[in-house]
Amino acid sequence: MEPKKISFVELAQAWKKLQNGSEDAIGNYLYKGLRIQVSKYHSSGTERYMRLYKKRREQGLCIRCGNKVRKINPHTEKLYRLCEYHREITDKM
Ligand SMILES: [Zn+2]
Repeated sequence: MEPKKISFVELAQAWKKLQNGSEDAIGNYLYKGLRIQVSKYHSSGTERYMRLYKKRREQGLCIRCGNKVRKINPHTEKLYRLCEYHREITDKM
């Protein structure tokens, strides 16, 4: 990714976001010929997937497609992790 040329003001704004721990600060900047890269350390695809999984699980959504899950698993008395459709195709695999 090519760095984005920024002014001191923009640099200060990015810095402020960084201070707040905001992920909006992530970027590739060029300031007075210097490259400043702000990126997430050790963020793997698995980590992103786990975050999505957790979020969907908390909201009672199918972890595959994000559709609302309506059926309760009689064993756990909690909502199924998957919607009707995905439960069906997963069982058959
Ligand atoms: Zn689904």
